[in-house]
Amino acid sequence: MEQHDRAKSINIAIDGPAGAGKSTVARKVARRFGYLYIDTGAMYRAVTLAALRHGIDAGDACRLGKLAAELDIRLEPGDPVQRVYLNGEDVTEAIRSRNVTQSVSAVAAVEAVRLRLVEMQRELAAAKGVVMDGRDIGSHVLPDAELKVFLTASVEERALRRYKEIGEAQGIPLATLEREIAERDRTDEQREISPLVRADDAVLLDSTRLSIDEVVDRIAHFGRTKLGEAK
Ligand code: C5P
Repeated sequence: MEQHDRAKSINIAIDGPAGAGKSTVARKVARRFGYLYIDTGAMYRAVTLAALRHGIDAGDACRLGKLAAELDIRLEPGDPVQRVYLNGEDVTEAIRSRNVTQSVSAVAAVEAVRLRLVEMQRELAAAKGVVMDGRDIGSHVLPDAELKVFLTASVEERALRRYKEIGEAQGIPLATLEREIAERDRTDEQREISPLVRADDAVLLDSTRLSIDEVVDRIAHFGRTKLGEAK
């Protein structure tokens, strides 16, 4: 692991559609640089979990905004995954449920929810030395990030990865996962506020035919180049 000196650190933004491998790759890149990894999708998932528990409809922007303002969401670095706390409760596993996955894009389209979470994300990245993954990090949350990557892969490949990860064990057909991922892409790309979009200055990386380590190596290479420029 390289030495993490925040005075000489950069921020790395990794955006892309569901299942492109962002979180695995971002976590490994953060480890190589000794940086903090922040999974912003986990924050939207935590709000969604709370909404489901309170019986708040994903279309009820007013109540969702209020809820997001009141929640205490904390992310703690952990190995192998970052732990997520909602009002002190560890919800790391609960936010990955299918229920949450199916509702999260609708909750994430609510402006008040985004304003609150983006504010938290900017605070976390203010001191630099952060690898942040999401949908709008390079385009909106951290427009000045020194390195921006847009990580993608074909929808078939992304569904296949998800199937190997959870579908096979849970008996969810590949075709269902492919349909759900395509649906989530559509909602994320078409929403009015901060849609999923590649920032003009983001490096495009298609991971369809690359291994995780190959993707990490490429991003680390770009990162080292940017670090050299930032010194
Ligand atoms: O990355 P993950 O699949 O956990 O993200 C869950 C959802 O959260 C995405 O489908 C998207 O709707 C929302 N999200 C977002 N902006 C981010 C991160 C995630 O809208 N920066």
